[in-house]
Amino acid sequence: MAEKVKRLGIMGGTFDPIHYGHLVTAEAARGVYALDQVLFIPSGVPPHKDAASITDAEHRYTMTVLATLTNPHFEASRVDIDRTGTTYTIDTLKSLNEEFGETVSLYFITGADAIMEIVSWKEPQALLDLAEFIAATRPGFALEDHAAWIDEWFAHHGKSLNVLQVPAMAISSTDIRRRVTEGSSVRYLVPETVEFYIRKNRLYRSNHRNS
Ligand code: NAP
Repeated sequence: MAEKVKRLGIMGGTFDPIHYGHLVTAEAARGVYALDQVLFIPSGVPPHKDAASITDAEHRYTMTVLATLTNPHFEASRVDIDRTGTTYTIDTLKSLNEEFGETVSLYFITGADAIMEIVSWKEPQALLDLAEFIAATRPGFALEDHAAWIDEWFAHHGKSLNVLQVPAMAISSTDIRRRVTEGSSVRYLVPETVEFYIRKNRLYRSNHRNS
């Protein structure tokens, strides 16, 4: 990664599979928060999911590489899939902080639904000290209607939560998997390279996905 990076976006997600909603979100965050680069980090073994119910990490990582290839500001990272054991965001942020040093500001971007669970994540205060948090959500979804306490929780820790409304957030990995299983089209929901990769590797052909 270029030395001149000062503000680094981190797109954390299972990316099963990565889709245009994720890419549009990252590009929007890059503009709004003046990010120099966005690192896409597929989770290894998410703490809240049954490992057998998600697609092999190498497939998810390869699709992430393919999807981010054409944007010079995007890069895919193996940091979470190469670390053994359960993937905790605190470990991701600590290792990026060590790698880039304290002169680089970290902006952790993920879905609002995931951020609403942050109170139960490992070492929440340390998390907030290491990065700014950006919750991506679809327009019209008012975070305060779903989690009125979240702003208060961030304020209690001396921080604030950034909310980014992204129209393309209506696209979802769950819907894409269902479409592939049913034989429906996913064209224009995922990059063409990802569509071909899914087809070639026969991913999501059945509800058992660890192929
Ligand atoms: P999830 O529960 O599968 O996703 C929740 C919602 O957020 C879904 O609607 C999902 O849509 C969306 N989403 C996920 N990643 C996104 C992204 N980067 N940009 C925009 N929307 C996104 O959440 P997850 O993907 O497993 O986890 C999200 C991140 O939180 C990961 O980096 C994970 O490591 C971290 N996390 C950490 C802990 C912990 O440290 N204890 C616990 C849970 C999660 P799609 O399904 O379409 O992606």
